[in-house]
Parts: sequence; structure tokens; C-alpha cells
Amino acid sequence: MGYTKIFTTKTLTRFLIEEQRRFNYATGGFTGLVNDVRLACKRIARVIGKGALSDALGTAGTTNVQGEAQMKLDVLANDIFVRTNEWGGQLRGMLSEEMDDPYPIPAEYPRGKYLLLFDPLDGSSNIDVNVSVGSIFSVLRCPEGISEPTETDFLQPGTQQVCAGYAIYGPSTMLVLTTGRGVNGFTLDREIGEFMLTHPEITIEPDTSEFAINASNSRHWEPAIKRYVNECLAGQAGPRGRDFNMRWIASLVAETHRILMRGGVFMYPRDRKDSSRNGRLRLLYEANPIGFLIEQAGGRASTGAEPILEVQPQAAHQRIGFVFGARNEVERIERYHRDHNDFEFDAPLFGTRGLFKTPA
Ligand code: MN
Ligand code: MN
Repeated sequence: MGYTKIFTTKTLTRFLIEEQRRFNYATGGFTGLVNDVRLACKRIARVIGKGALSDALGTAGTTNVQGEAQMKLDVLANDIFVRTNEWGGQLRGMLSEEMDDPYPIPAEYPRGKYLLLFDPLDGSSNIDVNVSVGSIFSVLRCPEGISEPTETDFLQPGTQQVCAGYAIYGPSTMLVLTTGRGVNGFTLDREIGEFMLTHPEITIEPDTSEFAINASNSRHWEPAIKRYVNECLAGQAGPRGRDFNMRWIASLVAETHRILMRGGVFMYPRDRKDSSRNGRLRLLYEANPIGFLIEQAGGRASTGAEPILEVQPQAAHQRIGFVFGARNEVERIERYHRDHNDFEFDAPLFGTRGLFKTPA
């Protein structure tokens, strides 16, 4: 009587400290690292939330290592991530979508044992149209005996991740996190400036009738993907015997968040559009952290042929085909890839042999 019901009192910090006590796996240092990532995300959320008032919209007039035009906010968000995380003493190096080479921790700061990999602003082409964007991060252990990590030290398969997560800057700002014991979602309470646990133990249903793919690339798809999508589109009269919905936001974080909240399957498969690259999304700071979250929520994350987390990375900014979400749908897509033997040739051969490979 007369009490206001408090929805949740568990902050992200409390959650991390309690995890630390329960599992005895992490030091206070690890909690400190996540706290700094959290602060970086809050800083980015503040700028994003101001929109055109911040004078930070538009292009920066530069390109990143992938040859993509950088938005002003890409550069700003990268700078926020670097400055907020470099000083704390937990990191030995960072790798970002927006920096060509790994970033060494400046000499004036102590060094720790972790590596931080991030996409500081995912979906930044959506910024100017006020659609949800996000930040994605992954934490690895630095190999022993390395004081100044180079590219090779970051080339660890996703199974080695200690922690991964994303922040989504939508109508509300959320931080979704895994440390390898399930997935938990926190919503930013702007008045008190804290992330509160609002979505404990997120899971993904194994079945779905909703898929997400950029259909404008359909003429470049491999036969397995064509077959899968065609079967979905055939609806109730087709081999799947039910109707499907399609969604496409063109923002990996927003697509991931939808799938974690209500299920679905996402595909950005490798295709024959550009034979010089093996997919669109980046393995180390997009596919691996998202894949870790999806698998921890009971879903499946794949290249189309094999689990994404088992891929041995070859380069810091490597791209890869990425299919994830509802377990049974992703397994079906993998099965179709095996049936059509799409992976028997390497990407550079696509242009010559690929054209003749489409089975009837
Ligand atoms: Mn991105
Ligand atoms: Mn980005």
C-alpha cells in the first residue's frame, strides 16, 4: 500500500560483482573493464541521443581501412571507446573497425591481460535517418609473454572470448552481455545514469517464421540460400507448410536485438557479388561477439557451413558469411549448404567457376 513498485534494483555493476562472488572466475579487474566499456557506451548514447543538435551527424570526409566512408560519429565513437578504456590497467591492446592497426596501450598507463575488440558504431549509415545503431565489443585474453600485441595476437577463434556484448541506441539504450554464462540485458535509466537488469537470462526459441536478409543481393546468393529463402517465400503452399515474415533493418545490432527479443533468423551469407571478399560482416568484432551472445542464448551462429566461433581468423579486418538465430533454421541452412556443396571452392574462384555451379 502506497509503495511504488520498483521494477528492478539490480545494476550492471551489482550484477558483475555478484557473478564474481558466485563463480569466483573474474577479478575486480575484469569488472573494472566492463565498467569502462559501459561508460563508453553511455557516452556514445548521449551523443547519439542529441541527434542533429550535436553537430555530429554527416560524413567525416575520410575512409576506414575497409574503404568505407566514415561518418563523423564513427570517428567520435571510436575516440570515446579508446579514451574511456585505455587508462584502466586491464587492457594490453585494442582492435577497432575504425583503426587500420591494433592500438597499443600508451606507455603512461599500466597494462593488463585482456584485449578489447570493437565496432564502436555499428549501423552508422542509419544514423542520419534516426534508426537504431549500436556498439559491439569482444574481450579476449592476450597471449602470455606479449607486451605489445600485434595483429597475430588478436587472431583467436571466437571460442576464446571471455566476454562479449553490444549496446543498442534505440528508443531506449540497452546493454546486452555475456560472460559465457547466459545472456543478460540491461536498460539505461537515464535519470540515474545506470544500466539496470531488465532482461535476465535471454533465450532464443529454436523455431521461427521470421527471417532477415538483404533481398537485393538475391541474384548473387549461393544455391543453398536461394533454396532456403524460396522455400520461406512459398509459404503455406510450399515445402515449409507455413507463412514467413521478412525483416531487414540493415543494422547488425538491431537485427541481433530483435532476434534475442522475439526470435528469427538472420542471414548475410557470402555471395558472388564481390569475389574479392568472403562475406560482408567482420569476423573479429561483429560476427564473433554476436555469435557468442546467440549461442549463449541457445541459438546457433554459423558461416553457413560451420560454427562461426570455431573459425580460425586470418586477418584483423577479415569478413565472413554470417547466419544466426533460431537453432533449427540455422541447422537447416547448414544442411542445404552441404547438399549443394557450396563450399567446395574458394572465394577467388567464384568469378570463373561459380557461374556454372548453380544446380538445377
Ligand atoms: Mn558494423
Ligand atoms: Mn561500425
